[in-house]
Amino acid sequence: MKKIVFATNNSHKLDELRAIAAGRFEVLSLADIDCHDDIPETADTLEGNALQKARYVKQHFGYDCFADDTGLMVDALDGAPGVYSARYAGPGHDSAANMAKLLSEMEGKTDRRARFVTVIALIEGDRETTFEGCGEGRILTAPDGCAGFGYDPVFAPDEADGRSFASMSAEEKNAISHRGRATRRLMEYLDAR
Ligand code: IMP
Repeated sequence: MKKIVFATNNSHKLDELRAIAAGRFEVLSLADIDCHDDIPETADTLEGNALQKARYVKQHFGYDCFADDTGLMVDALDGAPGVYSARYAGPGHDSAANMAKLLSEMEGKTDRRARFVTVIALIEGDRETTFEGCGEGRILTAPDGCAGFGYDPVFAPDEADGRSFASMSAEEKNAISHRGRATRRLMEYLDAR
């Protein structure tokens, strides 16, 4: 089976990717290629950050690879937290604090529309290609469910009758999620080569 490096050590993202790629590609993590660096993510767009991570791995470790970056865009907050979703409540990348801040900013708001957007950047040799996936939904008023990661407990995708991503099986989330959609585009591209 073909191997491909996913420039992440986020175990949740790896599980999602491996489930979608099962039987087609073996997905290696950063730990699998012995990369334990704190890879910079300093761009101000999702595409910029995804490219920055993939380029880092290509330049420092020599592997063709792909990287992703995800943002949660909330209409009532003018698109925040957006590209700053990981550091919304501070530099600690603390999901509980990020969700608490989001729920507090959304208190009393009737427009709860939001969307997750994932950009995947693939580097093969000197060729760079990006793939996007988007999922529409709304921000709940309180966390629901304990599966998944990040903002999953407070995001209810349109397809799921008010249930959050965190109350779904991994399979259900993958079928409709931003990352699932971007990943299937990546897989179709790789399969066609
Ligand atoms: P990054 O792509 O790892 O930089 O993620 C940005 C922020 O979005 C982090 O706070 C993640 O926890 C969160 N995030 C990324 N993907 C998801 C997801 O699929 N569900 C919920 N939160 C996510």
